[in-house]
Amino acid sequence: MSATEGIVFDIQHFSLHDGPGVRSTVFLKGCPLSCLWCGNPESQDTRPQLMFFPHLCAACGACMKVCPRQAMTLGENGPRFDPGRCAACGSCVPHCLRGARSLSGKSMDVKEIGEEVRQHWRIFQQSGGGVTVSGGEPLAQKNFLHALLRELHDEAGLHTCLDTCAKAPWPVLEHLLPRLDLVLLDIKHMDDTAHRKWTGAGNTDIIANARKLAESSVDVLVRIPLIPDFNDSDESLSAFGKFLREIGLDRIEIMPYHTLGLSKYRALDKDYALSPGVKPRLDEAVDMLTGFGLEITVHRH
Ligand code: SF4
Ligand code: SF4
Repeated sequence: MSATEGIVFDIQHFSLHDGPGVRSTVFLKGCPLSCLWCGNPESQDTRPQLMFFPHLCAACGACMKVCPRQAMTLGENGPRFDPGRCAACGSCVPHCLRGARSLSGKSMDVKEIGEEVRQHWRIFQQSGGGVTVSGGEPLAQKNFLHALLRELHDEAGLHTCLDTCAKAPWPVLEHLLPRLDLVLLDIKHMDDTAHRKWTGAGNTDIIANARKLAESSVDVLVRIPLIPDFNDSDESLSAFGKFLREIGLDRIEIMPYHTLGLSKYRALDKDYALSPGVKPRLDEAVDMLTGFGLEITVHRH
């Protein structure tokens, strides 16, 4: 695959929540983290994946007839999908009239994406919007991301925003800054051990990159996913407050825990490790972080 081609799992238009104005958000596949609460589990693997939604399936067998790998079978307990056998070729998807199958992730070229988002140029101009590149973690496809930002920022002249957890060597991020108008910086926890336990990786590089971003000239909005029993304790909130105050990033968006992506775990045959009914301490988080002199907004789903 060339540097101008990457794996995209969605492009959403008319987004109001991923930066200023009305935006198109391009979602790249692949992520170095595997957060237990992830709302887009299909974003974590860089490769395309077949998603099977059993509650929509009528067991008609149409997909089984066309699958070259026998990845779908009909057993005593109904239809069964074996992701280990699936090659994500997508052949079965158009044969399912119930919408029980979808392919997450396809190869796209930066020009193709540029053409698609340019159709919304007028609304970007009128609203002060643009394009946000999100994921997954866009830095997981760093060469493609660079080529995409060059197309969107330099060629199309659009306002560009990167939604990132900054889990990458600093030079990778630094290289992108001239082509970015805004960084949405996700910080999940200040403690390395807790971060490692709940996301699968430590946060030392993320915290170091947050400092460097704060020192750079790019506009940064910090996003904190507020997850019950992970980062909503007074101790954790206080650590966020002190750090963000110290480095001078004072615009914070809280993203409260939600379970909108739950059905996707079943569709990918993945386990969901958290208890869906639990709510984070949102009011307490807003009060505590405001107490540090930070400007807090809450992201509403
Ligand atoms: S995507 Fe291809 S390999 Fe996978 S279940 Fe469908 S037809 Fe079979
Ligand atoms: S084609 Fe769709 S409805 Fe029919 S068995 Fe396959 S997934 Fe189920």
